Formats: sequence, C-alpha cells, structure tokens
Amino acid sequence: MYNGGPILNTEELISILALAPNATAIYVNDDLNIAYANNTMLGYWDKGIDVIGLPLQVAFPEENSRKFIEKIKNVWLTGIANQKKNIPLQLKRGKKLQTFYYDLAYKPLKNKNGEVYCILNTATDVTERNLNKLALEKAKQHEDNLKIVQVVNEELRKAKSNLSKLNKELAARVNYRTKELSDSEATLRNLIAQAPVAIAVLKGKDFIIASANAKILEIWGKTKEIIGISLRVAFEEIKNHFLFSVLDSVYKYGEPYYGNEIRIVLNGEETFANLVYQPIKNPKGKTVSIMLVVNVITEQVIARKRAEDAEEMLRFSIEAANVGTWFLNIQTREIVTSPRFKELYGFNINEQFSYLDILALVPKDYHEKINDEFENTLRTGNRYTMEHPIISKKDNKVRWVKSLGKLYTDSSNRALYFSGLMLDTTEQKLDDLRKNDFIGMVSHELKTPLTTLKGYVQLLNARAVKDNDPFSMNALNKVETQINKMSELIRSFLDVSRLESGKINLTKQHFLLNELITEIIEENIFTVPDQIILFDNKKDVQVYADPEKIGAVISNLLSNAIKYSPKGKKIIFNCKANNGYAQVCVKDEGMGINQNDLTKLFDRYYRVENAQTQHISGFGIGLYLSAEIIKQHNGKIWAESEIEKGTTFYFSIPVNENAIN
Ligand code: ADP
Repeated sequence: MYNGGPILNTEELISILALAPNATAIYVNDDLNIAYANNTMLGYWDKGIDVIGLPLQVAFPEENSRKFIEKIKNVWLTGIANQKKNIPLQLKRGKKLQTFYYDLAYKPLKNKNGEVYCILNTATDVTERNLNKLALEKAKQHEDNLKIVQVVNEELRKAKSNLSKLNKELAARVNYRTKELSDSEATLRNLIAQAPVAIAVLKGKDFIIASANAKILEIWGKTKEIIGISLRVAFEEIKNHFLFSVLDSVYKYGEPYYGNEIRIVLNGEETFANLVYQPIKNPKGKTVSIMLVVNVITEQVIARKRAEDAEEMLRFSIEAANVGTWFLNIQTREIVTSPRFKELYGFNINEQFSYLDILALVPKDYHEKINDEFENTLRTGNRYTMEHPIISKKDNKVRWVKSLGKLYTDSSNRALYFSGLMLDTTEQKLDDLRKNDFIGMVSHELKTPLTTLKGYVQLLNARAVKDNDPFSMNALNKVETQINKMSELIRSFLDVSRLESGKINLTKQHFLLNELITEIIEENIFTVPDQIILFDNKKDVQVYADPEKIGAVISNLLSNAIKYSPKGKKIIFNCKANNGYAQVCVKDEGMGINQNDLTKLFDRYYRVENAQTQHISGFGIGLYLSAEIIKQHNGKIWAESEIEKGTTFYFSIPVNENAIN
C-alpha cells in the first residue's frame, strides 16, 4: 500500500525517463541547472552527458541559445508554461544539417505552495507528422493548383469560345465587307458601264482589257470580245503608236498622263481625242492597273481646223487683195492696223500712231462726213461705209480709200470694238471721176441741143394746131414726150455727176412735207389714169429741208411705184411725224422685190434683173440719188417688200433744224 513516501526514487525515475521516446530535460534552481537530460535530448542538443548538472547558461554559451534560455527563465519566474508546436529546428544528423519539427513544451512543476521547483522540458519530434502535413499541404496545393488550372482552363475555354465567337463575327464582317466591296465594285462597274464618257480598265503590265464600257467599245469599233485581251494585241494595227510607250511609263512610274488632241488613225479613220491614263495602285502603292478615259473631239478639232483654214484663207485673200485691216477699241480708242493699212497711210511698219494721227492724214473736208458716218454706225449699228482721199505721210501723194466697218457689241449692246477693211480705190476713183466728168460734160453738152430741139418741137406743134394737122400734132406730142424723158435722164446723170464730185448743195427751208407730196401727186395724176394714187393726210408735217431735193425723192418713189405695178392697182402715200422725225411711205401693190435685192436697191446703177423688169426701162440711178439726198439730210431710207404683193418704200428725215448739220 502507498504510504505517502516516494514510490520511485530519483534514480528509478530518471531511468524511466531515459526510456521515454521523447526528448526530456529537467531544469532546477534559479540558474536553471540541467538536472536531467535523456539521450534523445542530448542528441538534439548535440551535447554530451557532461552538461548535466551545469546551469543552462554554461551548458549553452552560444550566442543563438540566449533566446531559448530567456524563454525558460521566464517560465521559472512566471510559473506559466510555454508550449509551441511544429517548431522547425536545424539539427545535424550525422554530417547533414536537416530541418526537423518539434512540439516544444516547458512546463513548470510546482509544490504545494505553488512555487516552481523544476521545469520539465519535452521536445516531441513531429517531423514526420509535419512532413505528412507538408505532403498534405502540397497535395492541397496541388489540388489548389489543379483548381487554378481548372479555372484557367475554364477561362481558356471561355476565351476560346469568345475567340471563336469573335472569329465568327470577324468572318461575318469580312464577308459583309467583301460583299460590300463586291457590291461597290459592281456599282463601280455599273457606273463605268453607264458613264457618258468612254472608260476602260487595263490590268497589269500587259494591259489586259479588264473592263470597257459601251462608249469606249463604240469608239474602238470593237465588241465585248476584246475584254480579257491585251491592248497591244487588240490594237495590233497601231502597236507602234507612242501611246503604248506612254502606257508603259504610266505603269512604271505611277504618274497619270493627260493627252490633248491626240491623233489616232483606227480602221483607216482619223480620230482626235483627249485622254487620261490614271494609274490604279494597290495598298503598297504599286500600280496594278490603268484606268483609261477617252473623250473624242474629232468634230471639234475638224471644226477648229476648218475655222483656222478659213481664217488663213481669209488672211490670204486679204493679203492677196491688197486690203488693209483695222481694229479700233471703242473704250480705249486704241487702234491696231495691218501692214497694208500702214503702207496706205505712209506709216512705217513699226510706227505707233493714234486714231487722231490717222484722221490728220485725211483732208479736212471729209472729217465731218467720216465723223457723221461713224456716229451713225455707233447709233444704229449699221455697216460703216466711207470713201475718202488720204494724203500719204511718206510721199504726200493723194490716194483714195474705201473703208468698210462693223461695230461689235457685248450682250448688253454696249459697243466694244469697231473693225473692218480698207481698200485702195484710187484707180477706180480716178476712173469714176473721169467718167463722171465725161458724163457731166456730155449731159451738159446734150442739154443745150435738147432744149433747142424741144423749143422747135413746140413751135412745130403750134403750127400743126394752127393748120389743124392731127397727124403732125400726134407725132410731135410723142416726140416731146420722148424729149422730156431724155431731159429727165440727162438731169439724173448730171445729178449723179454733181453728187460724186461733191457739188450737190442743199438749200434748206421750212415747208410742209404733206403739201409737197400733194403737189407731186397732182402733177402726176393725169399722166397715170390707170393707177389709183391715194394720200389721206390729216396732219401737217413741218420740216426743215431742201424741198427740191426731197421732191425729187418723192417723185422717184412715185414713178417707181407706177413703173413696177400693174394697171388698176393702188398707190398709197402716208406722212407723219414721230420722235423728231418726219416719215414718208409709198406703198404699192406691184411685183415686189426679192429680199436679196432689197439691200442693194440703193447702190448706184443697181437694177433687179428678172423676166418682169427686163422690159421696163431704167438705169438704176433713181434710188441711188434718193438715198444720197436722204443721207445728206441725216435721214434714213429703206424698203419692205413681198413678191407679187407689193413694196413699201420709207424715208425719214429729222424735223428739227438743230438736228440737221
Ligand atoms: P430704175 O431706173 O431702174 O428704176 P431705181 O434706182 O429707181 O432705178 O430702182 C432700182 C431698181 O429697184 C429697179 O430697177 C427695180 O428693179 C427696183 N424697184 C424700184 N422700185 C420698185 C418698186 N416700187 N417695185 C418693184 N421694184 C422696184
């Protein structure tokens, strides 16, 4: 039975402890004497049995042991156990330093008074357990990794599916774009096909005709079959044309080419075209095709060439005809003349001169006339016609020139320039003057014997009346009529001759134009019983003019109306004042005048030649004289006519004396 004394003595106890598989040590006293350490503990410590009985501080003098001693001291002083699990310790096993894991425990053993009398230190090797744990941890880690891999895999799968989705989308987009492209290509093709200009696309350096619209095929004179063929092969006929080398260089250098008025002879036909070779490049900038745009301008070129030829011919004719030309800018008064013009006036070829310099070489008597004609052209737009002498600057010789001019206006009828021709009419003029002098002289010489003749006829007539000789009376009456006709003719010739030599002078006075017309009608009315002459004048028309000359004009118009109308037709006079002008018109119902002849009627010696007029006598002087007289009165004369219906002659003169020079 247990009696309260120790069951086991110290030695027995120690020998039991020595058997314990765990490392065990016991520390006693304040200085922590190692009272006991079994072999396992000594082994851990790598110390010998001699450390037993030594204070810890002595047994473990190493620096790194201090912490561990402090810990134990703390347990001694506080009486609180210190236990730690899985403490890794680097320990030598054999020669190898290895990591082992221990559960360490420092337990204070206390007496009845609670005082610590020793510390039991145990170290349980848990390396294996730890390794298992590590293995487990590793396995777990592995598992975790696996999970991560799974997650990653899942992510990957998702990514993959996204990718395939993306790919699908991309493919759809590519498809769409391709379709769009092909659509737009189709649109482009369509556009090219329907373009009003000729277009073709040539592919590659061999210029394969990739597309060609109807327009270009028409120009080429080819069918769609040439598509796919090289341009050189398709146009074998013109393979040496420089355009092929142009194409080569467009392809090589990628620069477009613009050709103007290129002449091409295709199928024996000459064609002119404006064309463009436009290089088409790939995204890398290399030319892959050439777009060809052609605009055929053959007609324009031919028309222009014709115009140039015509101009050339005109220039040639002008030069051949020895005609001078002039051009006057109305605004600047700058004058440009041809060499022949300068020659006529006696200027040097390079001499600069003004309009006034030219006028200075014209005798003063003609200045007013020239100015009037010029003003008239400016006012009415009518053709300028003027003949006058000039005194050559070079040799002071007198020459006659005839100027024909036309006024050119802009769209708002503003005079821009005045230009025309100048002919040397000296020879003709001198001939005319000689002829005029001759006519004047002959007329004058004829006038006196005719007057005598008329006197004798009248004398004979008086006798025949007295003798009551009807045969002689009739014959002498006819002779007198013929003498009158002849005198009238001679008078007109004299007038022309006077007019041409500038000897007609106007004797102006105030008179009533309507009265003058009435007088002339009355004078003629009995001589023309076959026609009806009407003049229904209500108002007086006062003018300031030469009544004799204006009377001659009216007589001439009336005699023409009678001459050129059949019997029984009406001749109607009219006279009125309007806008400062007195206007007279004589309307007949005669044969009428062709439009072509209308403008020429007023030329000297002009007669309309046709079957009807060939039996009507005349010299074509009457209207010429009338026109000259009206011109001298600053008036205007013209005619309107319809074949077989009749003609109306008009003239107008200013009523105001101030308007007359
Ligand atoms: P002529 O002495 O020949 O009549 P004019 O100068 O008076 O000369 O007329 C010129 C020409 O104009 C005439 O030859 C005639 O053919 C034509 N003519 C003039 N007046 C008329 C008219 N009233 N009707 C038709 N023709 C006319």
